[in-house]
Amino acid sequence: MSSLLPSARPTDAQDELLRRFVEAARRAQIVTIVNRAQTVKELGELVTAELCEAFEAEVAIVLAGWDDGPLFVVGSYGLRSEEAERITRQDLLDPAAETPQRAEGFDLLSVGARALICAPFGGRPVRGVVGVARFYDQSFDEAEAALLEAVAASIGHAVERLRLTEEREQLYRDAHERGKAARVIGSIADGVLLVDDARIVRLWNPAAEAITGLSRDVVLGRLLEEAIPAWSAIAESLVVANDPASSCVRATTVPVEIAGRELWLSIRGVGFADGTVYAFHDLTEAHRLEQLKADFIATVSHELRTPLAAVHGAAKTLQRDDVVVGGEVFERLLTVISEQSDRLAAMVNNILLASRVDSPELEVGTERVEVAALTADVLAAVRALANEGLTLELVAPPSLPPVAGDREKLRQVLTNLVANAAKYSPAGGRIQVELKPHDGALDIFVRDEGLGIAKAEQSLIFEKFYRADANMTRGVSGSGLGLYISRELVKRMGGTISVESLPGEGSTFVVTLPLATPAS
Ligand code: ADP
Repeated sequence: MSSLLPSARPTDAQDELLRRFVEAARRAQIVTIVNRAQTVKELGELVTAELCEAFEAEVAIVLAGWDDGPLFVVGSYGLRSEEAERITRQDLLDPAAETPQRAEGFDLLSVGARALICAPFGGRPVRGVVGVARFYDQSFDEAEAALLEAVAASIGHAVERLRLTEEREQLYRDAHERGKAARVIGSIADGVLLVDDARIVRLWNPAAEAITGLSRDVVLGRLLEEAIPAWSAIAESLVVANDPASSCVRATTVPVEIAGRELWLSIRGVGFADGTVYAFHDLTEAHRLEQLKADFIATVSHELRTPLAAVHGAAKTLQRDDVVVGGEVFERLLTVISEQSDRLAAMVNNILLASRVDSPELEVGTERVEVAALTADVLAAVRALANEGLTLELVAPPSLPPVAGDREKLRQVLTNLVANAAKYSPAGGRIQVELKPHDGALDIFVRDEGLGIAKAEQSLIFEKFYRADANMTRGVSGSGLGLYISRELVKRMGGTISVESLPGEGSTFVVTLPLATPAS
């Protein structure tokens, strides 16, 4: 570093005035540099270079330490970094010294220096020492000691000021990063759960709240196994990876009972130094559908097998050479074949219809439909197949406005509802269809006195493949598609369908359809 200032070592001892002037200027220059530095590192680099210039020395070093911690190199000039590091481990200065100390020798600082001066600075929280050394035989005088003492004090203040600034900036950066991370965690769709070493929940994001229904107030700060007791049972089956980037962060799908509900969660865990973070998403719906599909395949196979066996048996009997099938038996066997193949066809049609009923390609017409006549037809058709202990009746005002809809699709809906009413009334009873117009719409009530439907299942029975509790419907055949098809068809006709039921007392299904406008 170049300096425009004259030498700090006046050769003329008489010229005290000049000497003082030079030293004041040197001091001002060093203080300016000290104050200009933006970081502790920059301070170290600038000030040591300037110290060598000002003291006509070859080596300068500034060491500092926070509180009682070890000293580190703020900056050095004329030393290799390992030499500077080694000096941090030497006692440069008597720890009790409060004023600059000077030394002369042949190998000072173990770098061959001949003259050394060290000045302490600070106390708490920052303390340190500034050292300047010459390789030539010229010891430091009193004036230089005074200059170094003053310079050391301002370096001490600067180190402390810069350290605070750096700490503040680091805190700001950390807070900013944390804020960013919190925003990301807050907005992702996966539930995120973080537990510390003691398994206390430290983070529970909004998705975790939404998936589990447990608010952060009841989870945060509590033992995980206490907040979610079912976690103890699944903890062992979860794979917790140690490296988030590793490909072995495998998700495990497990059922977890939370607040009385069974959720199927796909959970990944990653361990880190202070705890574990789990990310999870909800597969309950997907799992339920899988289950329903599996049940559907099982019931449908069963349902198809019964009529198939009847058709097969009747055909085989007709084919036998050894048995002469008489007229009446012959007719009965043909009726079995015809009725059972109708049943098979209806079932296959239902399955096909269910697969496209929610697609826009399915055509649903809008015509004027006389519902009373249509219902009478449906009741007659079901009555023919229903068991004897059932009474079927139609209750309707003498004249009714027509509804706007698709006649054949509505026939299918009503057949479904009335056939269900018959199917789920194994002990017989009354089935009543009541038609009631009101406010531009027609309500069609289909009532039975059968098994009824549990409250929890009333919203589920309209789902594809859903069949209510097997115990209740045991022995009653079905595929779980009828109400799904009915709901979709009614929706397409601009209407609604709902159910009210008391288990053991019966059910009432209500279809509401818009009335046809006079012109339509
Ligand atoms: P399924 O082919 O099983 O009858 P649906 O979709 O028509 O299929 O009905 C779904 C489920 O709703 C049935 O399995 C049954 O448990 C229940 N359900 C429908 N109608 C009635 C009713 N009238 N009474 C009692 N339960 C009914």
